[in-house]
Amino acid sequence: MPDETLTMSGEAGTARKHQTTGPGRRTGDAADESQFEPAIGLEVHVELSTESKLFCGCSTAFNAPPNSHTCPVCLGLPGVLPVVNRKAVEFGIRTALALNCEVAGFSKFDRKNYFYPDLPKNYQISQYDLPLASGGHIDVPVDGGGARCVRIKRVHLEEDAGKSVHEGGTITGSSFSLEDYNRTGVPLLEIVSEPDIRSPEEAYAYLSMLRSVLRYLDVSDCKMEEGSLRCDANISVRPKGSFVLGTPIELKNLNSFRAVEKALAYEARRQAEALGAGERIVRETRHWDESRQVTVSMRRKEEADDYRYFPEPDLVPLEIDEGWVDEVRATLPELPGARRERFMRQHGLPAYDAAILTESKDVADYFEAAVAAYGGDAKAVSNWVIGELARLMNATGTDIRDARVAPTALAAMLNMIDDGTISGKIAKTVFEEMFATGKTPDQVVAEKGLVQIADESELARIVDEVVAENSRAADEVRAGKDRAIGFLVGQVMRKTRGRANPQAVNRLLQERLSRD
Ligand SMILES: [Zn+2]
Repeated sequence: MPDETLTMSGEAGTARKHQTTGPGRRTGDAADESQFEPAIGLEVHVELSTESKLFCGCSTAFNAPPNSHTCPVCLGLPGVLPVVNRKAVEFGIRTALALNCEVAGFSKFDRKNYFYPDLPKNYQISQYDLPLASGGHIDVPVDGGGARCVRIKRVHLEEDAGKSVHEGGTITGSSFSLEDYNRTGVPLLEIVSEPDIRSPEEAYAYLSMLRSVLRYLDVSDCKMEEGSLRCDANISVRPKGSFVLGTPIELKNLNSFRAVEKALAYEARRQAEALGAGERIVRETRHWDESRQVTVSMRRKEEADDYRYFPEPDLVPLEIDEGWVDEVRATLPELPGARRERFMRQHGLPAYDAAILTESKDVADYFEAAVAAYGGDAKAVSNWVIGELARLMNATGTDIRDARVAPTALAAMLNMIDDGTISGKIAKTVFEEMFATGKTPDQVVAEKGLVQIADESELARIVDEVVAENSRAADEVRAGKDRAIGFLVGQVMRKTRGRANPQAVNRLLQERLSRD
């Protein structure tokens, strides 16, 4: 499973830690990397989940037969006129507000001219000097607590290009390519950050936070494997403490959050080493080679002039009145950052739990529904959601929306642990069965005979048996070796197939052995 689709494991999200070394790492070198600091900016393209395209009525559904979702407008046939999709503009406003941007009252569309087979008009309708929104920021939680405030430079709307399928898989080795124009004209939102990100790990955290926000907003499914979220990066390196940014390098072909992180780590090292050796960094675009884990020079960076941007004459400017912006603002959900804070405050959760639970809105909703139904300690609910539930979901590839254990059923099971009906150990078995069958905990416990042994005389009888069968361990306990009692408790649990309360067994064993 690619890392982007994991929503709840400890690996995903912002709370995880890992190394970013790999085969790309060079050894035995001149420059001391720690004297340098990277400045990273990310340019993210998200496909908006509108039903139709940005300038025509064609469907945006993924995986349709090639060229089945096309019309004269998105194929750029002569004489056709684009009409802007109001929903796409609304989604743009929604996102801009969530990213604390200023929505422009007046913005316009421009033609970005370039010649490539996936672009039937030979220009892309985008926004150039007057974007939909600008001047925002988001707070990204970073390792070790605290947050990095990353400024958002601009948010603008544009249309997607088609998809080239190269015979044989790669552009260099194939004798022909096929074009699928289903994606042509699908609405994209481009979100450009300022170069405020200070490490490859922060870049990963930024992307996780941004994806989380976009999913809370319901404006995109953000599936990187389906291309609905794509990312380019720019990175420069400068001596620590310097206020002047270095020469930025653009990175392309970043196909996963992990690839973004690894490519940036490689590039930060490469540039630090070059600067340390007295070399000059040349402004260029570099390609991340996933198989070799290195970046490779592609081309010198083109300037904006090369695209000969000019205003799109077939579309009127976008005039967005404040009333509409206020209307959209009123529909914004509680966003992940705010919800995380609230989970810590209201439910008394540690930062780690709160971060994992709030990354996905569905998971956060599930958790809160279970807490409300349970009425007990929220941390216990959190342990089950990010523990057993996440484990079973990841193992079976189940989305939380399809999980067969309702929040109320989890709450009922926790109540059964609290009132001693089942042991915490047996609860795992019960939960697995609930997850597999959708049955309530009562049903599972009754059908499988898993009720905890409440009768102390029955337990005392089993304790006697275990003491008789394990005289050596019993002697050790009597001789003061406290650790041996754990073994005896384990034996009783085995005999009862986990249906005993370990605390009660421990107490009965102590009583039994002190009598001798
Ligand atoms: Zn169309």
